[in-house]
Amino acid sequence: MIDVIIVGGGPAGLTAASYLRRFHRSCVVLDAGHSRARWIPESNNCPGFPQGVSGEALLRRLRDQAAAVDVAIEQATVDRIVHGGDGFEVLAGERRWQARRLILATGVTDRLPDDAWVEPAVASGALRLCSICDAYEASDLAIGVYGPSAAIGAHALFLRAYSSAVHALPTDDGDGGAAGEEARTVGVEWLPGGGRLAFDGRRCTYSPPGQAAVGFDTVYAYLGCDTSAAIAAAAGVELTEDGEIIVDADQQTRLPGLYAIGDIVSGLNQISVAVGYAAIAATHAHNALPFVARAPV
Ligand SMILES: Cc1cc2nc3c(=O)[nH]c(=O)nc-3n(C[C@H](O)[C@H](O)[C@H](O)COP(=O)(O)OP(=O)(O)OC[C@H]3O[C@@H](n4cnc5c(N)ncnc54)[C@H](O)[C@@H]3O)c2cc1C
Repeated sequence: MIDVIIVGGGPAGLTAASYLRRFHRSCVVLDAGHSRARWIPESNNCPGFPQGVSGEALLRRLRDQAAAVDVAIEQATVDRIVHGGDGFEVLAGERRWQARRLILATGVTDRLPDDAWVEPAVASGALRLCSICDAYEASDLAIGVYGPSAAIGAHALFLRAYSSAVHALPTDDGDGGAAGEEARTVGVEWLPGGGRLAFDGRRCTYSPPGQAAVGFDTVYAYLGCDTSAAIAAAAGVELTEDGEIIVDADQQTRLPGLYAIGDIVSGLNQISVAVGYAAIAATHAHNALPFVARAPV
């Protein structure tokens, strides 16, 4: 019986694991290995990195920090959680683990254009996914905002505070409703919808139907996210309409002893928030576990 199993080895899960081992608790991280953070070419809002840090480098550091306190990280895709008795059983295919407490840190997956160029475009900063993360770096650039008309008006408005050249690139013919109107009022150019987004190796371009391609220094894509909360829902955890896990102030779900942290939880999807949730959940789980007095050395 492990004290705490953590499902997900992104910034949230790895931070929780380091906290728990530093509380002298046994824990294991089960991770499928597809952290959202691996897409980050350079984060400049991650606390403590004044020169910026890539997502891969940050994950490496977090794994090194966890390894320094002997956190076990196992490659596994968890497909079932069973709550019963005094804890949880976690299953991945034929493999199974048992723990007194469980922390879910399985994140979300961005929906992206279904094109091979997406990965190099994100790596070069030509295609971006999160204006809260990096709009500062896009200040005064020619910005495109790509996605369903109902979603992009508000994002275009937000980005207009960073650049005078913001263009909405809707995937449909809608006008964006009130948010679209507000965006146009402050100078966002609303291009005809349903065009083609492409990448020429340096910049993203958008071709409105029947018109020539327009190039942008950077394009923000807002195509939504897919939640990884199905295993939690099947175990009886409550979700929002968007599929995010509902937790209390201790990051606990409605199943006692089952916590959720990071992007999978309703709230701001940021590294600093994910690691904050991790500290709260790990500390609460530790305090809720049976007290163990330290044996003399
Ligand atoms: C392009 C891009 C740029 C970004 N830039 C920034 C930035 O500059 N600053 C910032 O604060 N944030 C940034 N973010 C957001 C940041 O990456 C996320 O907020 C952060 O990664 C969330 O951490 P997490 O641990 O909750 O989830 P993740 O990092 O997504 O980790 C979840 C882990 O759980 C695993 N998992 C999922 N399901 C299972 C399962 N069933 N069994 C086992 N493992 C599973 C996944 O494989 C993954 O390894 C950016 C995101 C993107 C995509």
